[in-house]
Amino acid sequence: MIRGKIFDIKEFSINDGPGVRVTVFMKGCPLRCLWCHNPEGISKEPVFNNHTKQYVGKEWTVDEMVNRLRSYEQFFREFDGGVTFSGGEPSAQAEFLYECAVRMPYIHKVLDTSGYCDTNWFLKLSEVFELFYFDLKLVEEEEHVNYTGVSNRKILGNLELLMEKKKRTVIRMPMIPDITDTKSNLEQAVDLIRCLCPKEQIEIHLLPYNEFAGGKYPVYGMIYPLKETYRRNNRKAVKDFEKKMRTMDYTVRNYVEGDYTNE
Ligand code: SF4
Repeated sequence: MIRGKIFDIKEFSINDGPGVRVTVFMKGCPLRCLWCHNPEGISKEPVFNNHTKQYVGKEWTVDEMVNRLRSYEQFFREFDGGVTFSGGEPSAQAEFLYECAVRMPYIHKVLDTSGYCDTNWFLKLSEVFELFYFDLKLVEEEEHVNYTGVSNRKILGNLELLMEKKKRTVIRMPMIPDITDTKSNLEQAVDLIRCLCPKEQIEIHLLPYNEFAGGKYPVYGMIYPLKETYRRNNRKAVKDFEKKMRTMDYTVRNYVEGDYTNE
């Protein structure tokens, strides 16, 4: 029997897709982004929370998960919402994810993904999800390996696949100071998006650095790989990126704006 490993289910979420949603956080991620703010989701195995004195991570069967999510159907209709699968990297449990999604055809489903997934599985997932939240971190291959631990070739291939399949996609770009918000990375991102992504098919969301990301690590006996100093975004590079994309009629939502404190 297929089972999924889940570390949280968040009800009434308003930032994980259209309307009011339920977000399912799945365990396991093949990436090791230095700024990850969900360290409890990285390992496939349960992790011990030193505060609650409990293990985080529980197995669900497909039936259990689908029944739980279907119980919100009325609520989803009322608030134009649906289910978002996040993580960790949900596609690391592609079979469980696919089986759940295929059994909820009338519920709107978002896949929040790093895009690092076997192409055949990603193709199957593209057929059963209505909307993709797709991370774009670093365009340059070597930098991607340095900061996330994996190559971005598979990721960019899967982004291309979504575009070919005409899937609605929100490209989410975490603006990590001095890592992803550099002039060079953002200029490369302009070129990449312009070449790969039709403006009618995507939205671009610029996400601020989560300065509290490091706080969770000691709770799970882990060490935050980035320094705990306050980091400021590169205002000019982020604004330039936003301006260039808007000039080409792309829809950009810049959530970093309120975070500029260095003027
Ligand atoms: S892809 Fe997401 S969950 Fe995985 S390590 Fe990076 S930030 Fe964390």
